[in-house]
Amino acid sequence: MKFYWVKTHWIIKKIFSGFTWNFPTTKKIVYLTFDDGPTPEVTDWTLSILKEYNAQATFFCIGANIKTNPDLFSKIQQHGHTIGNHTYNHLNGWHTTTQEYIENVDLCENVIKEFSVGNNSDIKLFRPPYGKLKRSQFKLLKQKGYKVIMWDILSADFDTTISPEKCAENVLKNIQSGSIVIFHDSLKASKNLKFALPKTLDYLQKNGFEMKAIKFAPEPN
Ligand SMILES: [Zn+2]
Repeated sequence: MKFYWVKTHWIIKKIFSGFTWNFPTTKKIVYLTFDDGPTPEVTDWTLSILKEYNAQATFFCIGANIKTNPDLFSKIQQHGHTIGNHTYNHLNGWHTTTQEYIENVDLCENVIKEFSVGNNSDIKLFRPPYGKLKRSQFKLLKQKGYKVIMWDILSADFDTTISPEKCAENVLKNIQSGSIVIFHDSLKASKNLKFALPKTLDYLQKNGFEMKAIKFAPEPN
């Protein structure tokens, strides 16, 4: 059985305080994020349901998937969502040399630039696949102007051993103002996602939450 925290433990947030885990606020705002796309059909579905609820979100895309689905990548942005870098080949930072890792981030950055709409490529957001990143990798990402965005609520939609109901519960029991929630617009997660996301959006709308996209552009040097 896999081990993971549905709600990120405070001690993890404290040890890795250079990462963004949530955006503390008293306002009713939450930040929904979707990793691993763009994926035909799953991303399309995600975009339609977000639109239905007037929700903005952030998509951490895999470079190789952008390259294969450039129109879908543009569509994400045309819907007003922001995009982030999730490496070109979904690398595990702990198992990759820092040089190889950064080169892979650059590859992803290049396709983002190539297929970005408007000034979206100025937004420098990064999410490490599996949440795994070495300190040396983090340091270089920071130097390149990236903000590393983690999460405080893990839907665990990728876990095919849990029920869609459990996936929805993971989010609904833990979500609060300023939360960053992670979902996946991937084939593997789609069964849980298609149940849990509408439930989440419904709950947030009924409780007066705004769903916003994460935006961060570094200061020009
Ligand atoms: Zn991922």
